[in-house]
Amino acid sequence: MNLHEYQGKEILNSFGVEIQRGIVAITPEEAVEAAKKLTEETGTGWHVIKAQVHAGGRGKGGGVKLAKNIQEVKDIAGEIIGMNLVTPQTSAEGKKVHQVLVAEDVYYPGDSEPEEYYMSVLLNRSTGKNMIMYSTEGGMDIETVAEETPHLIFHEEVDPAVGLMPFQARRVAFNLGLSGQAFKQMTKFVTALYKAYVNSDSSLFEINPVLKTSDDKIIAVDAKVTIDDNALFRHKDYAAMRDVREENATEVEAKAVGLSYVDLDGNVGCMVNGAGLAMATMDLIKQAGGEPANFLDVGGTADAERVETAFNLILKDPNVKAILVNIFGGIVRCDRVAQGIVDAYKNIGTIDIPIIVRLQGTNADIAKELIDNSGLDVQSAVQFQEAADKVQEVLS
Ligand code: GDP
Ligand code: MN
Repeated sequence: MNLHEYQGKEILNSFGVEIQRGIVAITPEEAVEAAKKLTEETGTGWHVIKAQVHAGGRGKGGGVKLAKNIQEVKDIAGEIIGMNLVTPQTSAEGKKVHQVLVAEDVYYPGDSEPEEYYMSVLLNRSTGKNMIMYSTEGGMDIETVAEETPHLIFHEEVDPAVGLMPFQARRVAFNLGLSGQAFKQMTKFVTALYKAYVNSDSSLFEINPVLKTSDDKIIAVDAKVTIDDNALFRHKDYAAMRDVREENATEVEAKAVGLSYVDLDGNVGCMVNGAGLAMATMDLIKQAGGEPANFLDVGGTADAERVETAFNLILKDPNVKAILVNIFGGIVRCDRVAQGIVDAYKNIGTIDIPIIVRLQGTNADIAKELIDNSGLDVQSAVQFQEAADKVQEVLS
């Protein structure tokens, strides 16, 4: 589950990570109140107004702006709230901004030497360890840094059973070229950040930039936090932070009925039982010259109702040019699924794209007969290759 910047910062701060302080606002008037309150607390007269959407690159899209006085806070908040923010990480339509974070300006006016670093914490799946990835090249696209100056990206691998050792935190500060007070602050920052990552059951932290002020404070200016969905049951407070407006509507709907669905960019919808078979089916579609439009695992209890729901989800995607149903009947009986498909087809009315169905396993022969005799425009296949050929046929 992805979080907004302000929510991510709240979590970081609860573990002692220094953050750029801010207050979230949904109207320009609230933004003004927030700015006044921040001025009382921090003494700063300048504020930065930041669009809260689940996408990075907001600065480039005009979603992060500096306000030098209260009038500007009001004007800029009014401009950003309600806008469709287009950034390098959104679609061309952009994302609607429902709220802004009014934050203290931590780049003191006139600060001649603010340093921006990059830091993320994530799981390195190939070593089975947590990893702190960091760079002196903060504030910019880390992908570009990785491409053009990969030697400026450092990795610190942390054994999850041992935890972050003090020497590792010091190595991070050292590699970032810090000394004195800044060095000390950075080791504190890294230690708190790692603790936050583990204890919040996150799967990704990305702090870009981490700021070093001229008076040697180390501050998280941005925060991208992803919490592991499978751990949300033990973090009710984080689960409540979910903002479904930011999520794919079809994925939200699928989740509500217990289907695992992931929206993709391709043209062949697929309905499969079991995640492994779903992955194999996506490969098959690619080999046949198509692109999967989704990942959809209807699970082990693929009954008629679930099949119909799944069809409806797939059909919401206007890019879908064909649907491939690939079900293995282990516990589930193929004839039941076939009946589900026939019923769904009739209930939905007209489905004007080709459907290829491969049912294999328990009662596959009865299932094929059911489909072939249904009079519907559904093509049945028994072998994997046969299904692939049929996909190729309907796409050409
Ligand atoms: P992103 O563009 O979505 O990654 O949003 P960020 O939170 O990283 O902000 C974008 C950029 O705005 C940062 O890289 C900073 O350079 C700038 N920025 C953020 N906070 C402040 C601030 O308090 N003062 C000033 N002057 N610039 C800021
Ligand atoms: Mn950023």
